[in-house]
Amino acid sequence: MQNFQFYNPTRIIFGQDTISQLATYLPKGARILIVYGGQSAINNGTLDEVKTTLAPDFYYQAFGGIEPNPHFETLLKAVDIVKKHKIDFLLAVGGGSVIDGTKFIAQAALYRDDPWKILTKTGVEVKDALPLATVLTLPATGSEMNCRGVITRAETQEKLSFRTELIFPQFSILDPSKTYSLPKRQLENGIVDSFVHTLEQYLTYPVDAKVTDYFAEGILKTLLEIAPDVIHKPDDYQARANFMWAATLALNGILATGVPEDWATHRIGHELTALYGLDHARTLALILPVLWSLKKEEKRAKLLQYALRIWGITSGTDDEKIDSAIEKTVHFFQSLGMKNTLADYGISKDVDLLVARLEQHGHTALGEQGNITLTISRQILERI
Ligand code: NAP
Ligand code: FE
Repeated sequence: MQNFQFYNPTRIIFGQDTISQLATYLPKGARILIVYGGQSAINNGTLDEVKTTLAPDFYYQAFGGIEPNPHFETLLKAVDIVKKHKIDFLLAVGGGSVIDGTKFIAQAALYRDDPWKILTKTGVEVKDALPLATVLTLPATGSEMNCRGVITRAETQEKLSFRTELIFPQFSILDPSKTYSLPKRQLENGIVDSFVHTLEQYLTYPVDAKVTDYFAEGILKTLLEIAPDVIHKPDDYQARANFMWAATLALNGILATGVPEDWATHRIGHELTALYGLDHARTLALILPVLWSLKKEEKRAKLLQYALRIWGITSGTDDEKIDSAIEKTVHFFQSLGMKNTLADYGISKDVDLLVARLEQHGHTALGEQGNITLTISRQILERI
């Protein structure tokens, strides 16, 4: 097992009708900005519920219009509102995009340099951020219990990530019944994103963190088991509850304890979303199986463990077992509406441009061993 630190201060308030507890956990006298996305939180009543809970005791403003893959340009408008109304607490109501956007606003509101440099990491260090909390409506990213975020600059078609302990939510409210209104496509995306988050931490080399491995395998098996009910039974509370908690646990830091982390699939995927607008999860489903095929030797022991423990594959040579596990993973993704190539999504790729973008963003040595070079990334991009 590798040395590690684990720190996660986010309180989780989980279950049906838990939004009613919101005010209890907010700092007294807080001046709040509610941040939300398009229409979904209005249409399913979540926003009203939040406002009703706040109404008697708190001053608040609301800022809507955060896009999927939140735009830097839009978030700066929210920063203006924060300054104008002397906001001192942010409340994200939505999915990963709204939460990530809120985490960016929290930093940008107090940042004394060009806020773009928070993302390029070329300016002064981020030393402070406004406190925030979340009401989650879409299980997928784990953003409700982690200190990461990803922001897109529409003008330059760049998608860049940040990570700082300053932006852990103080608390997150997870009411599984708030997911009933999710369209099929977002449910599919959410299952795939959380499955791949687990795998980016589990399917790495070397292999010897037993507790973390069994924990990751529990999440993978849960997602495989509940996926059909999540997709086909729109008001199955137990399926949604297990999905919501699995997605949170997949990226709250616990699966990174004692193991090396990969994240090459995510880094390459961000470039695809930035240039072509393809859903985050759909980029991951394209890249991960190809990356495994190319890195089969380095990841061999873990791929065999995955084949045995997740898919129950016991027959054949080691190579056959690995190939079968990759194939079953692809079938699982296909069962969730994922396609096999960019062309299947009607996207005509520019591999040279994608590789240039990876280089521009410093992603020249990706993966848990830093051996996903630009040459390997190019091979991946050529095959998808
Ligand atoms: P999302 O982009 O937040 O939301 C996708 C869509 O789902 C939106 O159109 C939204 O509509 C709708 N939606 C949300 N909740 C709904 C509900 N309860 N009912 C109906 N529709 C609902 O999706 P996401 O997958 O959660 O987030 C994706 C983003 O997170 C990407 O930018 C990705 O790169 C990032 N990400 C972050 C992390 C992290 O650790 N921070 C990890 C992985 C990915 P409205 O706009 O109308 O609300
Ligand atoms: Fe993700």
